[in-house]
Amino acid sequence: WMSQILSESNQPAETLDGYQVRLVANVELPVEAMNVRQRYNVGIGLFRTEFMFINGASLLDEEQQFIDYRDTAQAVFPLSVIFRTLDIGGDKFLSELNMPHELNPFMGMRAIRFSLSRVDIFKIQLRAILRASAFGKVRIMFPMISTLDELQQALATLEEVKNDLRANKVPFNEDLDVGCMIEVPAAALLAERLIQHVDFFSLGTNDLVQYSLAVDRSNPDIAYLYQPIHPSVIRMMKHVADVCYANGKRVGLCGEMAAEPLYAPLILGMGIHELSMSPVSLAPIRKLVRSIRMFEAEALVAKALLCGAASEVHDLCRNFLKASC
Ligand code: PEP
Ligand code: MG
Repeated sequence: WMSQILSESNQPAETLDGYQVRLVANVELPVEAMNVRQRYNVGIGLFRTEFMFINGASLLDEEQQFIDYRDTAQAVFPLSVIFRTLDIGGDKFLSELNMPHELNPFMGMRAIRFSLSRVDIFKIQLRAILRASAFGKVRIMFPMISTLDELQQALATLEEVKNDLRANKVPFNEDLDVGCMIEVPAAALLAERLIQHVDFFSLGTNDLVQYSLAVDRSNPDIAYLYQPIHPSVIRMMKHVADVCYANGKRVGLCGEMAAEPLYAPLILGMGIHELSMSPVSLAPIRKLVRSIRMFEAEALVAKALLCGAASEVHDLCRNFLKASC
């Protein structure tokens, strides 16, 4: 079984008509990095840094963060790791912070909003990530951007930290790529303005679905309304992918739908050719990629964009899979 996984993970994630797809892993802790590299032979498309702190590390300890980021970057080298800056709030809270109770935490002091309100904590994290960038292929990504101003503030803070490091002769990668997540509808619709400031986008569909459809992603009573292939979501995703292409920028997807074989052809057909998912899903998705043709996936998207309901898109996707596998 193990050797089967190993041999499959060495096969290229390439469609029948020769398109390369980049499969990468979502991880939450530094200890997972070695496993991802050795057992799955992929880089990290989403490192959810907040879990390090939920597990007890201190937000104020730059040295420990640096060591964790550096070890992760070295473990996946020569492949790359995208560190996402803190995404707390929503459903993730840190006892260290005593965060105030909110009526609507998913719409409250979450992710980049928190980081911009606690620039002291934000700068420590950025310093630690930048220092680690001298030891491997490191990228930075900001979560839950919803305005141009937030993105510019985050980038200005990053610049300040870089200037400090330069002044103190601390090495870091001057060419480090910076991106932002697209997981709020406002950001998706403003993609052509946001992309001017970053090297890449990563679609966070877990939240994009939640915020687009006004459906709490954690509420089982309305789970039937949580539809990743709702036509409105698909249109937004396609728009974001088109904007990236028009501007020569990279676009990935790191929400759970990347791991769903039924949806993967749709995502790939939109031109999103980097999929980040939990490691257990890599083998089945690689197998799927190797069994489809990109031009057919693109035709699937063209049809899906004309649908009026998630159920119609679902049927298209199911027929596509039946015909391919
Ligand atoms: C997402 O929203 O799709 C995402 C990848 O981020 P998280 O699940 O950590 O909110
Ligand atoms: Mg998210």
